[in-house]
Amino acid sequence: MPTRGPMISVWRRWADLLSPRSCAGCHCRLAPGEDFFCSRCHLEVPRTYYHLSPYDNEMARLLWGRASVERCTAFAFYTSKSNICRPLYRLKYGHHPEVGVALGRLVAQELHPTGFFEGVDFLLAMPLTQKRERHRGYNQCEKLAEGIIDITGLTLLRGVVVRVKDTETQTHKKGRERIENVKNAFALAENASELIHRTLLRAQKQSASPAERLTSLLNTLSSLIRHPSLSFLKPSLSFLKPSASPPHPSVPTGLHFLLIDDVITTGSTLCACMQALKKLPGVKISVLTVGFSSSACPLGPPPVEKTTSAEAADKTP
Ligand SMILES: [Zn+2]
Repeated sequence: MPTRGPMISVWRRWADLLSPRSCAGCHCRLAPGEDFFCSRCHLEVPRTYYHLSPYDNEMARLLWGRASVERCTAFAFYTSKSNICRPLYRLKYGHHPEVGVALGRLVAQELHPTGFFEGVDFLLAMPLTQKRERHRGYNQCEKLAEGIIDITGLTLLRGVVVRVKDTETQTHKKGRERIENVKNAFALAENASELIHRTLLRAQKQSASPAERLTSLLNTLSSLIRHPSLSFLKPSLSFLKPSASPPHPSVPTGLHFLLIDDVITTGSTLCACMQALKKLPGVKISVLTVGFSSSACPLGPPPVEKTTSAEAADKTP
C-alpha cells in the first residue's frame, strides 16, 4: 500500500536498505513509499465494496434468516487467485501475527472514512478454544482487531464469548455439516457483564480529560481516607469532601458489537457465535471479515505458496 505521508523518512530508507521488506501479496521488494502491499497488489485486491451497502449485500443475504445482523462487510473476495490469500494464510498458518495487525490497519484505513465503524461500542474477535490459541500462540482475529484499533481507536472486548467446543475443521464440510459441527460451540461467559463493565470503565478512563482524571483521583483519595488504617490522614486531608459512592453500575443495554473474523464461507461459525452474544440484552451485532469465500473455495494455501510439512499439518480454522 503506498504511504500517503508527504515525505518518506530517512530512517525508513535506511531500514529498507539494511533489511528490505517484501510485498504481502507477490513477495516483490517494496519501495520506501509502499507498505504491506506493493502498488500493483494494492490496486489488484479484489475488493467487495460491501461496506457501501452494509445492510444489503451478498454477505448480508448469506446471513438473513439465520442471525440478526446490523451491518456487515468483507474487505475482499477470497478466491484461489486473490492476492489476499497469501497474507491470510501466513497469518493463520505461518505464525506471522504481525501480518494480522497490518491487514487490520489496511482494512480500517479504507472503511473508516466511509462511516462503517460509526456507533460501534466494542470490537469482538472470533474466539478460539484455549487449546487452539495456545497451539497457535495468538488469536488471528484479535491481531486483525489490533490493527483496526490503531486506526479507529475502538476498544477490543476479550472473553465475553468463549469457544467451549473444539470443533473439527470446517474446511471440507458442506453447509448442513458446518451448522451441526459448530452447534453450541460458543457460550456467553459467566462474568460477561463484569467484563463489559470493566472494559467500559477502562475506556472511559483512557478518554477522560485532565479535569475528569483529577476528579477521579480526588474521589480515590477520599475513599482512602475513610479506610480505618489511614484514619491518621483524616485531619490533613479533610479538605477533600468525600463524594457519595457511585451506585453499582449496570451494563448498558443495546451495546453495538463489531464481530471480527478472517474469512466467511457459509457463515455457520459466525452465526453460532452471534447466538451466544445475543443473550446480552438488546445487543446489536455487525460483522467484518477480511475475506469473503464460497464453500467451493475454503481457506487453504494460496496456489503459489510453498508450505512446510508443519504448516500443512495445521489446517484448522
Ligand atoms: Zn505485490
